[in-house]
Amino acid sequence: MKIMFYSTKPYDRYWFEPMGKDYGFEMHFVEMQCDEETLSLAQGYDAICIFVNDYVNAAMIERMHQMKIRGILLRCAGFNNVDIRAAEGKLHVLRVPSYSPQAVAEFAMALLLTVNRFTHRAYTRTRDYNMNINGFMGVDLYKKTAGVVGTGKIGQAMIRILQGFCMKILAYDPYPNPALDVTYVSLEELMKQSDIISLHCPLTEETRHLINPQTISMMKKGVYLVNTSRGALIDTEALIDGLLEKRFAGVGLDVYEEEEGVFYEDRSNEIVKDENLVRLTSFPNVLITSHMGFFTKEATKAIAQTTLENAYALETGKELVNEVRP
Ligand code: NAD
Repeated sequence: MKIMFYSTKPYDRYWFEPMGKDYGFEMHFVEMQCDEETLSLAQGYDAICIFVNDYVNAAMIERMHQMKIRGILLRCAGFNNVDIRAAEGKLHVLRVPSYSPQAVAEFAMALLLTVNRFTHRAYTRTRDYNMNINGFMGVDLYKKTAGVVGTGKIGQAMIRILQGFCMKILAYDPYPNPALDVTYVSLEELMKQSDIISLHCPLTEETRHLINPQTISMMKKGVYLVNTSRGALIDTEALIDGLLEKRFAGVGLDVYEEEEGVFYEDRSNEIVKDENLVRLTSFPNVLITSHMGFFTKEATKAIAQTTLENAYALETGKELVNEVRP
């Protein structure tokens, strides 16, 4: 099987190269994003392997069908960037439904702890021999109320971590899990009662801009918001307005609505055109990271393993257990 890997960085080869060789796959790694222009690179390949900020729309699927490409291998869990309906009957879309929910949940907690206690800013101050702690006062998390939106694999890992801090957990999910030791409430109640809100639901038409002027207006003053799911869960302009109104004590974002083409790249020598991103990075109580919640050895190894198993199933006609269907 010949696989074209898009949007690759040196670390992508760390697991994929040795493991893919064991399967006998012919793999080609390019740095370019998968889009209308770069799709032609996949001519002669059996499958493409893409990541979170690549996209495949209906027109691209039609072209891939003509190019006899049989599959899209998503080396991630989310699949909002592929037109799944258009793919139906034309090619298979396979993903990695779970690799290390702990990796993302632990990172969500890292963001919360950092924006609460300003360790990122303390680090630069002490390196500058400025030992002043002005502006770094946080709050105890002990016995605070955390609202978890989406109680799937990552949400549950986050709940376990939050419970370790003796926090009271409120949760919202259209499919509540009765086995969890949490109090399910409506989204509105969660917004109103939580001291900390952490988003762990997928991006769908229903969840797009889940955090918007209305939901922000329900939140407690001094709330902490963490998003490690997908950027478009938050209406960025509404978030900026909320920050200007001092509604948020801290915001940790591992994902951003307009991250495509920006995250994972070094643009430090360029003029930034995205004014919302510039505005967000200017707030002292906002921490933005570049979609790296998944980035642990365990998670990246599991991603490579499952992606290659998906490719092998596609090649050998085995059951496609990780296929995404409409
Ligand atoms: P999951 O499918 O196990 O859980 C998602 C949960 O969200 C489910 O329980 C589902 O019922 C719930 N849900 C669906 N619609 C909802 C809604 N309208 N409101 C509230 N909850 C809703 O998925 P997961 O593995 O826990 O991953 C969650 C998300 O995390 C993924 O969709 C992905 O976008 C994101 N993610 C981010 C990273 C990263 O590196 N930052 C890595 C992996 C996954």
